[in-house]
Amino acid sequence: MDCIFCKIAQKEIPAEVIYEDDKLLAFKDISPAAPVHILFIPKEHIESANFLDDKHKDLIGHIFLKIKEIAEKLNIEDKGYRIVNNCGEFGGQTVNHLHFHLIAGRQMQWPPG
Ligand code: C5P
Repeated sequence: MDCIFCKIAQKEIPAEVIYEDDKLLAFKDISPAAPVHILFIPKEHIESANFLDDKHKDLIGHIFLKIKEIAEKLNIEDKGYRIVNNCGEFGGQTVNHLHFHLIAGRQMQWPPG
């Protein structure tokens, strides 16, 4: 499958890995939008949040708890951070493999662009 994040998960394309287990990979975004910008992806190819169903409940819970754990390790939980999932064209999704952005280290704005 021609998916760049599957290739990163399979180590065919290098990335700065922050955390890895059998279900997920966390790596630094290649084009950071803030001092801290980490992407959390399931190793399983899921195209977007639109393709989630009941069988993914544990996986999504696992990813979110891991995001919180990494935020604590990086000492960004105090000032706060943003977790972003872009879904589909109007959501601004550019890579069609489900991913969550963990962004921190500066004041975020609302609403997003
Ligand atoms: O949510 P969206 O699909 O727009 O985000 C994709 C993200 O993947 C971008 O922030 C982009 O910088 C990142 N990316 C990456 N490494 C790649 C390709 C894209 O970190 N090889």
